[in-house]
Amino acid sequence: MKPTIETLNLFKLASGDEFFLQLYKFLGNKRGKKVYIQSNLHGSEIVGNAVIYQLINFLSGLKNNQIDGEICLLPICNPLGTNQRNHFFSSGRYNSYDGKDWNRIFWNYEKVCQDLDELVNNNIKFDLLTIQENFLQQQKTAFAKQLEKINKPSGAPLFEQYRYQLQSLSMDANYLIDIHSSSNKCIDYLFCFPGQQQESAKYFQIDYGILMDTYDGDAFDEAFMKPWLALEKKFEEAGRKIIVDRESWTLELGSGMTMNPNSVKTGVQGIINYLVKKGILHLPNYALTSQDITLVSRQNIKSYYAPTGGMIQNRLSLQNPVKEGDKLYEILSFNKQGNLPEVINIHAEKDGFIFDVSTNYSVNQGEYVLALFSPNVD
Ligand SMILES: [Zn+2]
Repeated sequence: MKPTIETLNLFKLASGDEFFLQLYKFLGNKRGKKVYIQSNLHGSEIVGNAVIYQLINFLSGLKNNQIDGEICLLPICNPLGTNQRNHFFSSGRYNSYDGKDWNRIFWNYEKVCQDLDELVNNNIKFDLLTIQENFLQQQKTAFAKQLEKINKPSGAPLFEQYRYQLQSLSMDANYLIDIHSSSNKCIDYLFCFPGQQQESAKYFQIDYGILMDTYDGDAFDEAFMKPWLALEKKFEEAGRKIIVDRESWTLELGSGMTMNPNSVKTGVQGIINYLVKKGILHLPNYALTSQDITLVSRQNIKSYYAPTGGMIQNRLSLQNPVKEGDKLYEILSFNKQGNLPEVINIHAEKDGFIFDVSTNYSVNQGEYVLALFSPNVD
């Protein structure tokens, strides 16, 4: 089957040039659930574009009756970020106009919803599908005010116009996957929300994940999922347990400014396996696999920042297990006080293993050097 392709106007630049988004939609025979997958929200994190390309090829080889519902794919979802350069480097994490992180700008209905109690009271006896439909409609009605604001003569800042585009494409999805990578050098892992999703995480066939148990940063995955989690919570308080058919994922596939073939493969295979598990894809003779995943609370991640300026040397490599007190790296530190250069050793505060390291070996004081996962340490 072929996808339908929609080219959507995003915004116009001072030069008169315009940016567009291009959405690829695979519509199955039956109406059903919606899957939304995007990539490259942060400009240097290009790996997801290769994942989406391979998914487009894979899905193009299927028949309509092998897909239930709809799969929407949006590669290069942030052209402004993708094209941003500083010399050889794609920075692309922050909007250079207002300094905002492109993934901390999203509209979260949980924060503005005033009448969740009322919705729960009105829907307490309804079936789950009706509840979800009613809540989605309520969310969409509130979200429409964003467009009203954009269309007023006073307009709205770029980030509000941009997020409106992405969220209007994805708000009605059941399953949302936002593909990132580290901006530095990193293993493959994912972000997972607590609850039902922890079970589904096994189907991505990724070894590690971070549980979104405390974080609140208006990220794309959070803005999608937090309102639904708030709805579940309110129903529980009202005496009825519901589990909404919504899941939100951020996949972190390797390193920035590169498309590591193994990370691409992990992403493609994991997404296909997950979509089979969710009943979106029907593949004959497909052997569904699940794999244990170690989910780490955010508080069990420790980032190390350079205590002084200098050059990083003899740093332990990615995936290296460390014990408390082990030497993690050295800083070759120069001075302007008439003394010889010195080497400063930095040791691990806790057991764990290295899952992310900086690309740049030259650090000013306070700059990021590496991060440890400490799965078994509180
Ligand atoms: Zn990112």
